[in-house]
Amino acid sequence: MSHMFEVSDLNASGVQHRELCAKANQVCDSIFGERVFVRAVIEASNYCRENCTYCGMRRDNKSLPRYRLELDALRRIVFDDLPATVTDINIQTGEDPVAVREVLLPLISEISHSTSLGISVCLGTLDTRLYGELKDAGATYYIIKMETGDEEHYKKLESPGNLRERLDAIWHLHRTGWRVSSGFILGLPFQTPAIVQKTLDLLASLPLAGCSVSPFIPGESTPLAGHPMGSARQTLNAIALMRTMRPNWVIPAVSAMNLVSDTGYADALRSGANLTTINMTPPERRGDYLLYDKKRFIMKEALILRDIEKAAKRPSLTSLASYFESLNQAV
Ligand code: SAH
Repeated sequence: MSHMFEVSDLNASGVQHRELCAKANQVCDSIFGERVFVRAVIEASNYCRENCTYCGMRRDNKSLPRYRLELDALRRIVFDDLPATVTDINIQTGEDPVAVREVLLPLISEISHSTSLGISVCLGTLDTRLYGELKDAGATYYIIKMETGDEEHYKKLESPGNLRERLDAIWHLHRTGWRVSSGFILGLPFQTPAIVQKTLDLLASLPLAGCSVSPFIPGESTPLAGHPMGSARQTLNAIALMRTMRPNWVIPAVSAMNLVSDTGYADALRSGANLTTINMTPPERRGDYLLYDKKRFIMKEALILRDIEKAAKRPSLTSLASYFESLNQAV
């Protein structure tokens, strides 16, 4: 059987690695014209009902102070504090339906009525009714990662629900008019090359508008604390392969790239990634939005602009949301 993605290419090094990334960069420029989307993320709540073994916000982490931002605090960030280059807002949380109902639905309605910002959400696997309410409120892009594409591996990592449910959610979101982005973590403990191959094949079979790959970062207060981190080079190869196979995908440069390599973020933007994220979570809460450990790499506007320039790109003046809107009109 021939695969869309060859997992052996993930090990490319030296000239082969550089050529793979350079080719992906060219493909990216041919579609997006050197423009990189700039969004802001707000991590609105770290309450989580899930128990993913790789994630610091897992419900069994009883030592983590939990927070849920209030509507007024969120309003101030969105309406008063956004840097000028931001065209889209991404709202992310642990899996916290209370935050969605009580705070995020009203916030999203206000944003969509009073600004031209595109609205993305990354809120976990929710009741289908809530997806509908989020969409009616004005969100258009749903980020829901698969994390790993092997059922047994997914179960062992205690990822949300089970893989089937996660895939059903992706299909449901797609059928109900969302643009959907998924993704996976590279270098997860117990992840074999066969599992990575399965994950890439599965991602290629889904109706996605975007896809991410993040290197695994061991979290200090998680059961996987002692495991090694993912490889920067392999992650760049994965980004490049995704770009080559799916030229139209929106592929983010993830902040974890800075933890695995000094030049990781700019390298991602030179290897096929075309979306950056400025972190707008209030400074006093950032440490508690615990994906891995307190030493997160916080992306501010100046750093993002520096890396965009290093990668010989320009910030997009068009939002992700209106880019997708223009695709709708083209068909
Ligand atoms: N709860 C939501 C999204 C928030 S978590 C959901 O389940 O969709 C955001 C993302 O952080 C996860 O999708 C996961 O891919 C990533 N993440 C968590 N722990 C990580 C780790 N140790 N290394 C790399 N990425 C991690």
